[in-house]
Amino acid sequence: MSNQIKIPYKFTLAEKKIITSNFSSHLDWEKVIFDALKIKIRDNLRPKQNNKCCYCKRELGYDIKEVDIEHIIPKSEYSDFTFEPKNLALSCPACNTKKGEKKILNRKIVRYPVHSKNCTINHAHYDDYSKNILIHDGCVFEALTTKGSHTITVCELFRLKIVENKAKVKIAKRNKSSRLINLIMNANQLELQNAMTELMKRIK
Ligand SMILES: [Zn+2]
Repeated sequence: MSNQIKIPYKFTLAEKKIITSNFSSHLDWEKVIFDALKIKIRDNLRPKQNNKCCYCKRELGYDIKEVDIEHIIPKSEYSDFTFEPKNLALSCPACNTKKGEKKILNRKIVRYPVHSKNCTINHAHYDDYSKNILIHDGCVFEALTTKGSHTITVCELFRLKIVENKAKVKIAKRNKSSRLINLIMNANQLELQNAMTELMKRIK
């Protein structure tokens, strides 16, 4: 299983023309004219990422609201990289939101980097995720490198452990209730009578 995107999205000539004539700032990313292109980028990157978020490696949903085209180097800081294929990767909306506009470069750059040396987090196109982060039980993130550690901080990946714990408590509670209901439903007349007698004794 590949841990990084080997081939980025390749814009066709027609797509390049649409970009050139409709793009002047990173805010243009939201223009409706790019909607069809975004669908193509999503469809192209999904199998290349094994349908996993590039930061938390959780399964991506198929609804439009369950997958984001993430700009690895924030487009608000480097407008020129808004349509840079190597700057695009799919992430879950939660990771995208947590990462936000946080800086992920340790120096100013002019051209899009050709390696991830100056990138402080795991770069979906350049880095092998498994060398930076180890995931236990799908929700505990262990940093293997400084890059891994910074990725966990920037995307707040520790949030998943908290969510997982809450889910476990909920399931445990539900199981306990259903065990009690089952007990009552399956009890015979004598057992019920005994339980009632026991209960009455305790009340007295
Ligand atoms: Zn994620």
